[in-house]
Amino acid sequence: MPQPILETKNLTKIYNLGQENEFEALHSINFTAQAGEFLCVMGPSGSGKTTFINNISTIDLPTKGRVCIDGADIRTMSANEIGRFRSKTLGFVFQEFNLLDTHTIYENIAMPLALAKTKKKEARERVETVAAQMGIQEILHKYPGECSGGQRQRGAICRALVMDPKIIIADEPTGNLDRRSANEFLELVGRLNREQGVTIIMVTHDPLIASYSSRLVYIKDGIIEQTIEKEQMSQKEYFWRITEINASESKALFV
Ligand code: ADP
Repeated sequence: MPQPILETKNLTKIYNLGQENEFEALHSINFTAQAGEFLCVMGPSGSGKTTFINNISTIDLPTKGRVCIDGADIRTMSANEIGRFRSKTLGFVFQEFNLLDTHTIYENIAMPLALAKTKKKEARERVETVAAQMGIQEILHKYPGECSGGQRQRGAICRALVMDPKIIIADEPTGNLDRRSANEFLELVGRLNREQGVTIIMVTHDPLIASYSSRLVYIKDGIIEQTIEKEQMSQKEYFWRITEINASESKALFV
């Protein structure tokens, strides 16, 4: 068995709400992702999806337990080391795109390269390569406010890709996109996964979007309640299984 690209051991997150009031949002989660997987994380609102994503991607640190990414134990790193490791290994795509409105799409994409002090010529080549991959060469000079939602999300993917990350972490990346742009986004992400072996970990509430993944991780009340591997299933069968899991939550309300 190859070394997993991401592994958690007893990952526990407790939020301190003050005055000795604590809330355990994740309960001792053991989780493994292999390089090249396309994972979707689903679950009811408030079940711990964002907490999980933040804790497996160095945005937040667990209260207890271990997170290893690409063989590195996050607990053993200083804050500076974590920052460098994050920008080298992980790319992030969020629902709100998180592009800076005062910077052009080019400048937004180039930002991680500037922070890593990459030489100008190399940075330009890198930006142009990812922009060509995502088909947004012609909007590089525009500001985010001048672009459509789909174009802004492609810009955000380019920024996530520009450092050549091993894992892309996406939290509801299609939440602000219309169906057509969401499909385009999935096509692009799917291609990155298949052709370049980038591992994808994506939170979504949309079963259709989740049906593009290779494994579904269903979180409920701070634990991984179920996982479904797509394996030999057709996308349609897989979609129905995902729909059933999500529907069981709503059905339970009527029992
Ligand atoms: P989801 O992404 O599935 O909607 P979250 O991970 O955002 O769930 O939240 C899981 C639980 O942890 C919720 O009950 C939420 O209220 C709580 N929570 C999330 N962030 C914080 C925080 N910073 N402080 C206290 N409680 C939090």
